Amino acid sequence: MVIEYNNNGELTMGGTSLKTVAQSFGTPTIVYDETQIRTQMRRFHEAFKKSGLNYNISYASKAFTCLQMVKLVQEEALELDVVSEGELYTALEAGFDPQHIHFHGNNKTKHEIQYALESKVGYIVIDSLEEIDLIDRYASDVVNVVIRLNPGVEAHTHEFIQTGQEDSKFGLSIKHGLAIEGVRKVKNSKRLNLKGVHFHVGSQIEGTEAMIETARLVIQWLKENDIEVELINLGGGFSIKYVEGDVSFPIEDGIAEITEAIISIAKETGFPIPEIGIEPGRSIVGEAGITLYEVGTIKTIPNVNKYVSIDGGMSDHIRTSLYDAQYEALLVNRNDQADETVTIAGKLCESGDIIIKDAKLPSTVKRGDYLAILSTGAYHYSMASNYNQMQKPSVFFLKDGKAREVIKRQSLRQLIINDTK
Ligand SMILES: *Cc1c(COP(=O)(O)O)cnc(C)c1O
Repeated sequence: MVIEYNNNGELTMGGTSLKTVAQSFGTPTIVYDETQIRTQMRRFHEAFKKSGLNYNISYASKAFTCLQMVKLVQEEALELDVVSEGELYTALEAGFDPQHIHFHGNNKTKHEIQYALESKVGYIVIDSLEEIDLIDRYASDVVNVVIRLNPGVEAHTHEFIQTGQEDSKFGLSIKHGLAIEGVRKVKNSKRLNLKGVHFHVGSQIEGTEAMIETARLVIQWLKENDIEVELINLGGGFSIKYVEGDVSFPIEDGIAEITEAIISIAKETGFPIPEIGIEPGRSIVGEAGITLYEVGTIKTIPNVNKYVSIDGGMSDHIRTSLYDAQYEALLVNRNDQADETVTIAGKLCESGDIIIKDAKLPSTVKRGDYLAILSTGAYHYSMASNYNQMQKPSVFFLKDGKAREVIKRQSLRQLIINDTK
């Protein structure tokens, strides 16, 4: 994404002045560079095409979804992962082809299973043995299922750790025999077709080792147990850059490494390579989005800290308080030198409502200025809440110098619409 100051000293995204956006549409607002979202999707496509393998790329709705986002996913020929009735509803309302939707989740309700079946989603990802019985009971036709494996592997950003970490609410454990039991159960059902297997090793992973080593383990397991599959889904978790020092997953080289490794593992093992799936979320939308806020109260505690407060907070930006996540901020309406370290705080009633603890900002920042928080495109709007009866922000897609509203700011009326009188 090209975020830079123009000759008037205003911060721009893809050439559009963010000051104008903030002034025209109000704050807080989340703004995406639409071209950047599409570029990320196309980069994954190109990288897989080069490998010559059959592949599918499925966008993880949970990172950010709305009707226009789903339409964009469809236009760029990605498939779609959903994990709830609400995400499936959103996808269907946007006109997404259900055949290309995959239903995930560790506790799908009976109702959700019925909804997924009725909607004829492409496949359901089995996450427990019980679920196999439920799907079998409700299915009227043959339904494709993919078994989510718990391979006993954890990925920590750039290392791969085989922890024997079987204590997870997700998937069927290979080591403890649940995975193989799942396969048997599916095969014993006339209505369930075992399309493939799935794993997901973690989030914000910078390297390829975890995915490759897990794929190796899974391919060996499939081979040992004589299990044939049409699909191996490697999950998501590709890293993005939040702050200096973070690494954006190198899509071209990374996918090349992963696909080459799979080709050679398959050769070694004598295993026919099935279709390879991935499920990126963060790496599609994360860096393409920023949040614009207006500065309000500035409080200096002599020799202690300076708090710059903005007009949103943990209701639209939970990741700092939830994960201690780090971000960078830029002053939108002036290109002044960032000569001071301050805390950017939200306006909600929690001490933990912090956006950035040690933010580098110009000392000239004052009430009425606008700030941009970078890399807020994933897990911000989708994690937003109405805490303190805050209204969820508006969302815009910027393209060719135009701002297109994709989600309106929540109205006050909407805050009480479900309250009984
Ligand atoms: C969260 C999740 C993803 C997407 O993860 P990102 O880190 O956003 O790429 C993909 N697959 C599964 C199963 C997930 O739980």
